[in-house]
Amino acid sequence: MSVAKIVLFYVFTPLSDPEAVRLWQHALAERHGLTGRVIVSSQGINATLGGDVADLKQHVKVTKSYAPFHGADFKWSTGTGDDFPRLSVKVRDELVTFNAPDDIVVTDQGVQGGGQHLKPGALHRLVDARGDDVVFFDGRNAMEAEIGRFRDAVVPQTDTTRDFLAELDSGKYDHLKDRAVVTYCTGGIRCEVLSVLMKNRGFTEVYQLDGGIVRYGESFGDAGLWDGSLYVFDNRMHMEFGEGVESLGTCVECGVSTPLFVNCANEVCRAQFLRCEECTAAGRHPSCGACEPATV
Ligand SMILES: [Zn+2]
Ligand SMILES: [Zn+2]
Repeated sequence: MSVAKIVLFYVFTPLSDPEAVRLWQHALAERHGLTGRVIVSSQGINATLGGDVADLKQHVKVTKSYAPFHGADFKWSTGTGDDFPRLSVKVRDELVTFNAPDDIVVTDQGVQGGGQHLKPGALHRLVDARGDDVVFFDGRNAMEAEIGRFRDAVVPQTDTTRDFLAELDSGKYDHLKDRAVVTYCTGGIRCEVLSVLMKNRGFTEVYQLDGGIVRYGESFGDAGLWDGSLYVFDNRMHMEFGEGVESLGTCVECGVSTPLFVNCANEVCRAQFLRCEECTAAGRHPSCGACEPATV
């Protein structure tokens, strides 16, 4: 019987020949009929792949046999078998595009100078010990946080990861520079870079959630400090950590809780906004808030 899964992994490690790694990863994934997205750079590898669990396990096994990737942390979740449109394996300048390649120093020990990694249990111990002195800092795009986030988290105004530098340099978050700041993102990779940028800009006590929201959800489900749905970049669009979990987002038309983003009907806008299944089926509110008055 075929069981569809999705696997996420990343490794920050110096790669002298990213193109060779790209060719190898592409051939390997193709041979196993996998789909998804793999980025390779001189800083390492970042992959999200979907397919049959037996095929994914073969891919993982061979990937781990390459010494620089031996220590990779593989995160598994349930897929549908149709989670990605195709296979894309690319070489980029940065593993995650913060447009800050000069801030990031990668050795075979990983990214240098980042925030202290906290596993989910250690995060709870920190919060128990320090209480309100701990502040969560969302390392994702603001849209992702609309449907789920850590309790009382600071959510920077970012459309893409490239917006973080300007946000940090704006002074808006300077009052957090002496607080215990915990950055978090989907699987941890964005925080590896973001926490360096923050420390380089005077944030004195920076932690990063090890394994991201995915690992946290596996440990604490919906019973911890996480609220709502997790936005994911595949056809699933969102996932929850328990039965009956409600998204923090609400339908722009009727106000019910929904984790479902749709694209604005205006072809030149295509902004994503929240609209529930029922309103979508009924054809209500085709355009986003910004376009609605002009086009309807
Ligand atoms: Zn609705
Ligand atoms: Zn629009």
